[in-house]
Amino acid sequence: MSRSGYRDAAEKTKTRVYQENEKRKRILVVEDNQINLALLKQLLEVHGYEVLETSGGWEAIDIARDGQPDLILMDIRLPDICGLEVTRLLKQDEQTKTIPIIAVTALATAEYEKKGLESGCDAYIAKPITLGNLLRTIESLLTSVPSAVVSQHIDRSPTSTDRYQVANSLEGLARGQRRIN
Ligand code: MN
Repeated sequence: MSRSGYRDAAEKTKTRVYQENEKRKRILVVEDNQINLALLKQLLEVHGYEVLETSGGWEAIDIARDGQPDLILMDIRLPDICGLEVTRLLKQDEQTKTIPIIAVTALATAEYEKKGLESGCDAYIAKPITLGNLLRTIESLLTSVPSAVVSQHIDRSPTSTDRYQVANSLEGLARGQRRIN
């Protein structure tokens, strides 16, 4: 192969790798438990996602603005600010308000579910997380036009509440899988 041929081939390879990287969806994981964070990061990377991470709520806002993730996994109990408050702030911010947010918490009480809804999160997952459920919820928020998802299940105009319920109804599809506590 000629010198320019090699160069062209190398250029082509570079372009292909670049495009593959471009297609990877980026997920911001906000989690202050380092073991959970490492597990989630590993799990998501294995499934082809690019992962941004932080253990702080305020930092999550900066990273969301700068990094424009496709989705955010939001722990609620954080050391500096409640994850629901972070969610509220992100949903009020022009730069970040369209990013889907999945709230993840051990505080799976009715009161917290209501607070989760009020904060504007798109789905709510209780710990311990089943991995199948987590991946399906992520995929449903990333790949579906929310109104299209909703229309399959609910025979009326979609609201953010419907979107939340649809994502949550995926629970149970993944019983018996590995769990993150
Ligand atoms: Mn936490």
